[in-house]
Amino acid sequence: MQPIDFRSDTVTRPSAEMRRIMASAEVGDDVFHDDPSINHLEHYAAESLGFEAALFAPSGTQTNLIALLVHCQRGDEYLVGQDAHTYKYEGGGAAVLGSIQPQPISNQPDGSIALSDITAAIKPDDFHFARTRLLALENTIGGKVLPLEYLAAAEKLARDRGLGLHLDGARLFNASVKLGIEAQKITRHFDSVSVCLSKGLGAPVGSLLLGSRDFVHAGRRWRKMLGGGMRQAGILAAAGEYALRNNVQRLAEDHANAAILANGLAKVPALKVTLPQTNIVFVDVAAEHAEKFAKHLATQNILVTGSTRQRWVTHLDVDRAQVGTALRIAHEYFAGN
Ligand SMILES: *Cc1c(COP(=O)(O)O)cnc(C)c1O
Repeated sequence: MQPIDFRSDTVTRPSAEMRRIMASAEVGDDVFHDDPSINHLEHYAAESLGFEAALFAPSGTQTNLIALLVHCQRGDEYLVGQDAHTYKYEGGGAAVLGSIQPQPISNQPDGSIALSDITAAIKPDDFHFARTRLLALENTIGGKVLPLEYLAAAEKLARDRGLGLHLDGARLFNASVKLGIEAQKITRHFDSVSVCLSKGLGAPVGSLLLGSRDFVHAGRRWRKMLGGGMRQAGILAAAGEYALRNNVQRLAEDHANAAILANGLAKVPALKVTLPQTNIVFVDVAAEHAEKFAKHLATQNILVTGSTRQRWVTHLDVDRAQVGTALRIAHEYFAGN
């Protein structure tokens, strides 16, 4: 049996149709701005998300880093959630490569950062302190959608205090589809936004950074410096544009599958399941079962991450029937133990 892979929404493989479009994509040298497919993707994304310009880069780690490097200078500081990808899962790149100090702040249970905590963390204009320059939010964060009213209030606070505002929108479209709104209703609150094409949208590679023309112009220099200036990468951009045009609305299926998965797993008393808002299900497994249950799933070709705290992620390469198979295999373990 083929593995049913819930480890991440990054494990998707390009579909036959996506590969066909990649194979016929027009390409050129993007460092000379000559790649028509990349130029087209950048224009299309900028327009549909309400920005002047966009930049195509190999990964979300790089688009986030470029954003931090453009917003902040050496000795500046950015305010960020303790659980945020840009702080916790990107190798400390902003500090290592940008001499930018992160100021992590605890995330609230809903994924937001309390406005009072943001206010308290902003440093006075005094040479003892780093210069607080930027607030970086993430949406979705751990699969949770930040409320629109929160984004508006965070934007107001940032504007009042002269901070820039960046969104790590690796899973932006999971949030917009969940809320049933245009993604622009989310992105309009930010100066810059980073979006992943290679998560639930199904492209093999690529992220986009969106911002003003000047912001993206400055970002292009950093991208080159970071080794992200690619050449005939239009074959990748074509996949990315296909993903944006075809695979956004279907994220609702992943959300529905995650809910089915969560409800099925929640029937097991030894599992404490957090009901998902989007496509990520967290499952706390009773300690006495954790290792054996993980092994059972692995030997039955059901792939998840974690053992005492499992993460199950739905995506376009897992269909409803496979969710049913995974639930049957999970229940088999607990029937016998
Ligand atoms: C996956 C992810 C990124 C970027 O990851 P890459 O693997 O570098 O593309 C950034 N932020 C969040 C929230 C993510 O989930």
